[in-house]
Amino acid sequence: CFCQLSGKIDECTCNIDTVDHFNNVKIYPRLSSLLVKDYFRFYKVNLKRPCPFWSDDSKCAMRYCRVESCGEDDIPPGIKGDNRMAKRSLEINASEKYTREVNEDCEAHHNEMLDYLNMTISEEAQKELVKWDAYDDALDNFCDIDENDQDAEYVDLLLNPERYTGYAGPSAHKIWQSIYLENCFRPKRSFSFNPYIQSGKLNELCLEERVFYRVISGLHASINTHLCANYLLSNANGMSFTDPKGKWGPNLSEFQRRFSPESTNGEGPNWLRNLYFVYLVELRALAKAGPYLEDEEYFTGNDASDWDTRMAIKDLLKVIKQFPDHFDESTMFRNVEQAERLKFEFKQHFRNITRIMDCVGCEKCRLWGKLQTQGLGTALKILFSGKFDKVIQNRRLDAHNKKEFQLQRMEIVSLVNAFGRLSTSIYKLDDFRQMLR
Ligand code: FAD
Repeated sequence: CFCQLSGKIDECTCNIDTVDHFNNVKIYPRLSSLLVKDYFRFYKVNLKRPCPFWSDDSKCAMRYCRVESCGEDDIPPGIKGDNRMAKRSLEINASEKYTREVNEDCEAHHNEMLDYLNMTISEEAQKELVKWDAYDDALDNFCDIDENDQDAEYVDLLLNPERYTGYAGPSAHKIWQSIYLENCFRPKRSFSFNPYIQSGKLNELCLEERVFYRVISGLHASINTHLCANYLLSNANGMSFTDPKGKWGPNLSEFQRRFSPESTNGEGPNWLRNLYFVYLVELRALAKAGPYLEDEEYFTGNDASDWDTRMAIKDLLKVIKQFPDHFDESTMFRNVEQAERLKFEFKQHFRNITRIMDCVGCEKCRLWGKLQTQGLGTALKILFSGKFDKVIQNRRLDAHNKKEFQLQRMEIVSLVNAFGRLSTSIYKLDDFRQMLR
């Protein structure tokens, strides 16, 4: 069977079989129960941003392209309100209260201490600091984030599963082509206007360039695996595409068309191998950010549910830590002369890809495209910004480390959901293998 892959995953020391077993038995079931929790199911996104590269020509007319919006009341209060701001103001209040008490009780004896506690910076200076903090953080980002965008809205991901929508043809091809042609590194010697690199030519690229290509190709393979696994079974059930009660399920011949060597000029299995590669990249990012993620509060305003979420995350991270062969990002950007330039280009290229998502003509594909590229961007930030490189000995981070490990809620939500998508793809691949058998 062409999708019965084996051997080592490219650029890694780990075997495909190891990932299959680890994912299907340990990771996939845990993620399935984690991602239905409130903290992870509401994603804030602006789906109305105009395409910055060309005029937005195509709108998908199919009903299944539409994103169902969720009512204001459905969104947990702790998510709607800016919980970090709320928490920060609680911290400030507590510190003011403390200052007052100290003032009252031991005014005479602790002047020195009071001076320190009362030390405040002017409002203007504070605003300036916030601006510079945001600027510093933005430099590390591999994507533009919608979290503070006025036009961003919450979407309930459970109401809008990623599946076949019928989005195809010139619009979809234009997106993939610009991703591969304009934003991926290309073999210089064999430059051609065919946007899709043949796997045999990849050895003409350096490691960082190959890694970039493989993560994009892996993401592409994952999206296409999903639409095959969740296909609108119109023919089998005699339903039309406009039937509101459309039935969804695996479509084996569509999967074969997209990935068998015969119909893809031998490339299909390589694309599937890239799916395993991007899985390992995100897995490593989760492991690396583990101490920070364990320390998050996953605040939604519902104590019982937040506790469940924290326990589920802890359990997931524990299992991830046990994985024997993590992707080793320290092998990248080592060449002193080129490292900075390559890292800069890597980041710029990836940012462009996240902006291309605003050109996707099908609303639901845009939603999942944005979420998955943001999740991947967050993984790259964790791996390559240097801010997560320190080994943390104590589980609870002090205030200083916490600042350095700053991730916005949307980054965490997108990272875990994006990893959930890759995990599901690998799981579904196994279903297709069984069917082919
Ligand atoms: P495409 O998938 O459009 O691929 C174009 C060309 O890319 C292929 O001919 C091949 O040469 C090359 N290629 C294919 N796969 C790979 C790979 N893994 N690595 C490298 N090269 C490759 N459709 C849905 O039904 N549901 C969705 O949720 C959805 N989400 C999408 C999200 C985004 C961001 C985009 C751009 C598209 C999405 N689509 C979705 C559309 C879907 O991905 C395909 O574009 C569409 O089904 C048409 O498929 P195709 O067979 O013409 O080849």
